Amino acid sequence: MKVKENLTAVRKEIPARVKLIAVSKTKPVSMIMEAYEAGQRLFGENKAQELSEKYPQLPKDIRWHFIGHLQTNKVKYIAPFVAMIHSADSLKLLREINKQAVKNNRTIDCLLEFHIAEEASKFGLSLPEAEEILSDPLFQSLQNIRICGVMGMATYTDDTAQIHREFSRLREIFNALKTGYFSNKPEFKEISMGMSGDYKIAIEEGSTMVRIGSKIFGARGR
Ligand SMILES: *Cc1c(COP(=O)(O)O)cnc(C)c1O
Repeated sequence: MKVKENLTAVRKEIPARVKLIAVSKTKPVSMIMEAYEAGQRLFGENKAQELSEKYPQLPKDIRWHFIGHLQTNKVKYIAPFVAMIHSADSLKLLREINKQAVKNNRTIDCLLEFHIAEEASKFGLSLPEAEEILSDPLFQSLQNIRICGVMGMATYTDDTAQIHREFSRLREIFNALKTGYFSNKPEFKEISMGMSGDYKIAIEEGSTMVRIGSKIFGARGR
């Protein structure tokens, strides 16, 4: 795979206001270094163990974004260094992230993951579930996490109208939370949506962060 060429081609299609997370899951350190040498600094991984194995082998100015489903017992492996966790989907997980952040004497940036796909199978919160968390005094006492926005995945489909609807729903959720809970929080500004197959639609719908893997690093085995 020509990682550098792929990266250049993808960057041309992304406006400057949108951050590109290069999703390197399942890919070797050597390929990550190719992207690094082409100037890429934001990378995404979806398994805590894989990330914690890659981290020590790679330059320390990489900002690692955790994008996969995160079990509470795995938070400790990534808490010392992770730049942002995109997949916060319960109060229990947020409390554990906060606890591990305290242990590491840092604040961890998080996004709330929403279920926006019209299909049933994906992870994520509904708007009422998120509002319940945000109103909970237990959540409000967490001092070492910063909620920076929302994340979601659209259905894997050729139906572009459906993808537009789903991403537009995530933007509405973002707007509702911004108004209701984060109007005085400038850090609440991110909408993480868009992957290799649908990032152009996501950008049209207001994405601020796209998570692109196969279009940069090639198809994955799993
Ligand atoms: C794998 C993955 C991506 C990237 O997927 P591609 O289709 O390879 O671009 C983005 N977001 C999440 C949450 C992922 O797990």
